[in-house]
Amino acid sequence: MDDLVDIAVVGAGPAGAATALRALQLRPDASVLLLDAAAFPRDKTCGDGVSAHAIELLGALGVPSVAGLGRAVPRLLLHSPGGHVVDRTCARPNRVIPRAVFDAELVSAAVVRGAQLRRHRVRSAEILPDRVVLDGRIAARVVVGADGANSTVRRLLDPPPAPPSAVAVAIRGYAPSPKDPDALVIEFAHGRHLAYAWSFPLAGGGANVGYGVFDRRGTGTRADLLAALRELLPGQEPEPETIRAHHLPLSTAPRHQPDGRVLLAGDAASLVNPLTGEGIFDAVASGALAGRAALLGSAAGAAHRGAMRRTFGRHHAHTGLLARLVPQGRFLDAAVTAAARHQSVFDTAVELGLGRGTASLGALARIAASYATIGR
Ligand SMILES: Cc1cc2nc3c(=O)[nH]c(=O)nc-3n(C[C@H](O)[C@H](O)[C@H](O)COP(=O)(O)OP(=O)(O)OC[C@H]3O[C@@H](n4cnc5c(N)ncnc54)[C@H](O)[C@@H]3O)c2cc1C
Repeated sequence: MDDLVDIAVVGAGPAGAATALRALQLRPDASVLLLDAAAFPRDKTCGDGVSAHAIELLGALGVPSVAGLGRAVPRLLLHSPGGHVVDRTCARPNRVIPRAVFDAELVSAAVVRGAQLRRHRVRSAEILPDRVVLDGRIAARVVVGADGANSTVRRLLDPPPAPPSAVAVAIRGYAPSPKDPDALVIEFAHGRHLAYAWSFPLAGGGANVGYGVFDRRGTGTRADLLAALRELLPGQEPEPETIRAHHLPLSTAPRHQPDGRVLLAGDAASLVNPLTGEGIFDAVASGALAGRAALLGSAAGAAHRGAMRRTFGRHHAHTGLLARLVPQGRFLDAAVTAAARHQSVFDTAVELGLGRGTASLGALARIAASYATIGR
């Protein structure tokens, strides 16, 4: 059996790295073990869009260098299902950073701060009164499950099943050139479920392109996903060897954080935004909260559940409600029209979709007023 550590973090993606960074920021002498099945740098199936909100939070966690990685993208260009368009500059630029680069930067910052990185795939956990033992030999006072969408740690906590409407599926690849070098381009699809194609410009000239459906029942086959991407973004053909698909656990799934010494963060806690598929900000923010709570031993689970509710509760309530309205194409047409007319509606949508904002009554009233003008 290895020595008992204060915190073992399972998964060294954005949620796990943020957990380690925050715990060591608060208590530099804590022993933090960062376990990952993969060796870094590693790819992660993703759109590589890193919101300004995530970059700002990472600055506060002591990793300002991420603000210089990848490509800064000032504009957001959205096409609604009915052909309405909003093209505006965001208050703060988002960035497109290949995950191999972004995640390795966070892991190395955590290691510089004192985390011990070990390549190890966790398969089992035994929860004892004073510790948690992973795979019969790694003992920690608290374990944080930051092991992504297929989380082993989450499964060990016996969570309620997620309905298919709370699981998105997306395919991504790399194309030789972007649709627009200065904009995150999003083309919403017609159909029963919220779905969109994206083209995000990379530093060096290429683009991360993809297509996602925000309901497992509307996914179809891999060929169907690629066909939809082709139809919505003609000419943005991904290189075949870069194409990968994965599911995204949305925050509309039931929340699950038991009391005790095992915490969940990031995709393992089902936190992906159900309106946009953004999950990196939520991973970093929940990881930072887990890092703080993890210092509390047996009180960690209750503390983390409370902190998550205070931080994300209103945001999740608002995005959950909007996720039910958005699949009606007319709502998206009206919202895009209102965002094109009013900077305040655009700003509200960015906060809701990329941060942890809420829908203001003013923005909803302007969207409602736009219904009269969208012509269907
Ligand atoms: C196609 C697609 C496009 C997306 N586009 C975007 C986007 O543009 N912007 C955005 O913000 N979000 C996007 N997301 C969501 C985003 O990728 C995730 O929300 C984010 O990566 C979650 O971070 P995480 O740290 O929780 O998990 P991950 O990044 O998945 O990291 C989990 C880590 O755990 C490790 N691991 C897994 N199991 C074990 C185990 N048993 N033992 C040890 N280690 C383990 C893995 O190797 C991995 O390193 C996209 C997702 C998909 C699928």
